[in-house]
Amino acid sequence: MRLRVCHLYPDLMNLYGDRGNVITLTRRCLWRGIDLEVVPVGLGERVDFTRFDLLFMGGGQDKEQRLICDDFRQVKGTALAEAVEDGAAFLAICGAYQLLGRYYETGSGERLSGIGVLDVETRAGKKRMIGNVVVTSALDVGRTRTLVGFENHSGRTHLGPRVNALGNVCLGYGNNGEDGWEGAVYRNVVATYLHGSILPKNPWLADWLIAQALGRRYGEGTPLAPLDDTLERAAHDAAITHAESLARQDRTPRGRAVPGATRRVRT
Ligand code: GLN
Repeated sequence: MRLRVCHLYPDLMNLYGDRGNVITLTRRCLWRGIDLEVVPVGLGERVDFTRFDLLFMGGGQDKEQRLICDDFRQVKGTALAEAVEDGAAFLAICGAYQLLGRYYETGSGERLSGIGVLDVETRAGKKRMIGNVVVTSALDVGRTRTLVGFENHSGRTHLGPRVNALGNVCLGYGNNGEDGWEGAVYRNVVATYLHGSILPKNPWLADWLIAQALGRRYGEGTPLAPLDDTLERAAHDAAITHAESLARQDRTPRGRAVPGATRRVRT
């Protein structure tokens, strides 16, 4: 089997090792005998995104977001929206998450328009939200899973009625430090503030993305062989233990996580 991944703006949108997510997807496919082709797509390139099974875009500072936002909207926006509606899997981190929404308003009041694929809006607040994050997520239907990662953003994202949250914040700030939600999900798009990179130590999310990609290409229910995730699980657990121990020493906010209570789409 073969899958194609589009890595959007790999040179500009890559904070805190976000590129590690693409490496994780590649390795987990390779270990299962799935050939994963990664195609970098940068500024000025017009592409038919429906030809990809999976899309990835990492985070970026305001400066990089400013550099790409016109290209993202004008050159790629319509084709990306088509791919999303067609069921392509998409992982978007932080600055990419913000630009998949309607807009990101910077601290100086400048509005960077997004492509509006996600029903979310983001405005920068005065305080940056920095630290470790632990989230419970019901994305993987029938199971409550944990995600752990690192966040650093001034943007506060609020979800509209046409998206689900990725999960509930147990530790950290998440979307805005107020409503207890982290990330957004729409069709097979997963958008999150979690850097880290997120996939190496949360392998279930990598497999969820690969499963959606396989299902779209080869038919729903295409089996995904299990892997020995002993090391990945150890990394996951160690990151949570570390986050918990730091939280006992500092002021990391604690959420009121309700396992499984992921926001539902209201449309
Ligand atoms: N510039 C955005 C913010 O601070 C995104 C930062 C990021 O991708 N880590 O909110």
